[in-house]
Amino acid sequence: MKINIAESNADFMQEIPFAFTTTAEAIGAVADDYAFVGPLTVEGHIVHTGSCWRAEGVIRCTKSFVCDRCLAPCQEEQEHPFSEEFRRTGEMAEDEEVNRFDGDLIDITELVRDTVLAAQPLSKLCKPDCKGLCPVCGADLNQGDCGCDRFVPDPRMAALQELLAKNKK
Ligand SMILES: [Zn+2]
Ligand SMILES: [Zn+2]
Repeated sequence: MKINIAESNADFMQEIPFAFTTTAEAIGAVADDYAFVGPLTVEGHIVHTGSCWRAEGVIRCTKSFVCDRCLAPCQEEQEHPFSEEFRRTGEMAEDEEVNRFDGDLIDITELVRDTVLAAQPLSKLCKPDCKGLCPVCGADLNQGDCGCDRFVPDPRMAALQELLAKNKK
């Protein structure tokens, strides 16, 4: 995903639009416990602000995963806005963490991949208040209560009770 900025090198604040369609695998946005399916699109523009080049836009993708609590297969449409600054190699920058590029091509592949991966929450839920599965019978508690007694005694108390029971013998 390279954007040629040669034509507006001298033109401050001129927006150079860009649009890419790719896949998550193609840019290395892969993880062990979920996947992105279908096309991944990136739309936005690059603008020369005078001190640097700023790439702004939005990434759209579809995440496929299994809910951590109820194990239901899920698909989620996602939108990730981004705004990042680039500087030519060798140009002065107060912030050394800034993205670098050579010549007239700004490659946003790494930026897109990092943005998408960093935006994923640690827990994957079909909905924020997913009730999960009954630990006794395995019923999906989102569908209603199964009526099981799900009271789990404190394991430390259970161990103590076992010990007391043994001593009585
Ligand atoms: Zn769920
Ligand atoms: Zn149950």
